[in-house]
Amino acid sequence: MEILFERISFLRPGFWDLVQIAVVAYIFYRLLLIWAGTRALQMLLGLVSLFAVYALAEVLQLELIRYLLEFVFTYGALAAIIVFQPELRAALTIIGQSRFWRHLARPEQTSETLQVLVHAAEVLSRKRIGAIIASEREVGLEEYARRGLAVNAPVSAELIEAIFTRYGPLHDGAVIVSGDEILAARCILPLTQFPVTDRTLGTRHRAAIGLSEETDAVVVVVSEETGIISLAQRGRLERNVSADRLREALGARPAKRAPPAAAKAASAASSPPPAELRLVDRRTPSP
Ligand code: ATP
Ligand code: MG
Repeated sequence: MEILFERISFLRPGFWDLVQIAVVAYIFYRLLLIWAGTRALQMLLGLVSLFAVYALAEVLQLELIRYLLEFVFTYGALAAIIVFQPELRAALTIIGQSRFWRHLARPEQTSETLQVLVHAAEVLSRKRIGAIIASEREVGLEEYARRGLAVNAPVSAELIEAIFTRYGPLHDGAVIVSGDEILAARCILPLTQFPVTDRTLGTRHRAAIGLSEETDAVVVVVSEETGIISLAQRGRLERNVSADRLREALGARPAKRAPPAAAKAASAASSPPPAELRLVDRRTPSP
């Protein structure tokens, strides 16, 4: 131990070094929070493993492995930018639309709208009308809204039902809600790249998970086949959610900003299995 201290004594970290270390650590922490449970984190872990192998090859003087890995790292940086593009975009938008900017720009959602959204989901579920509704949080959803048809109307259960009614010209695709307004309908959302093993979950549910991976949106899905209401958030799908849970999820601040107790409860409630099947079944056991 003493030898170690002696060896690094020349470093003598000054005040600003410590500040820099703290800032870098904080940035990494925030990135990990944004990326937790996404493809990016898994690939990051893969990258760390490669670095470990590289370090080992360096120590053991395994020239060929070292050479090959150097090659991978050189071109890998470029590949990573391409592969991580959605995550990088999400991270940059989240940084750009942090709480500070949000108060300047993001419209707030009233509790009436919240009620209307929950009510609409219940009506759709009862009538077995398939739907997907994305509610904007801190990351703007304009980009996805632009892919659909602009609606720009106040949120109402009747309008949502009319949009998703079968055979209607707007029923295909997602509705995007920002604050108290329906921005657009018929929006095509990105599908999750993760394998979803549950055969009953088709493209609608995959699209909901996909958007929740790229943004912090809360996405409500009503299954046309079963009427089951699901909730996609931060890359996870909770199935069979109650009206209360829906209200809580739509109304709550993003989990990462929730007070520790609430965040803990939320993560305990959803305790996701590994990425391959990040589903939480909330079906209560039948009596
Ligand atoms: P359900 O339980 O309602 O059948 P599902 O998960 O099985 O849902 P599908 O049966 O494939 O999914 O549902 C197809 C519908 O999902 C489409 O008609 C369309 O409205 C919607 N959908 C499919 N892909 C997307 C997408 N990328 N973005 C938005 N909506 C989509
Ligand atoms: Mg289906």
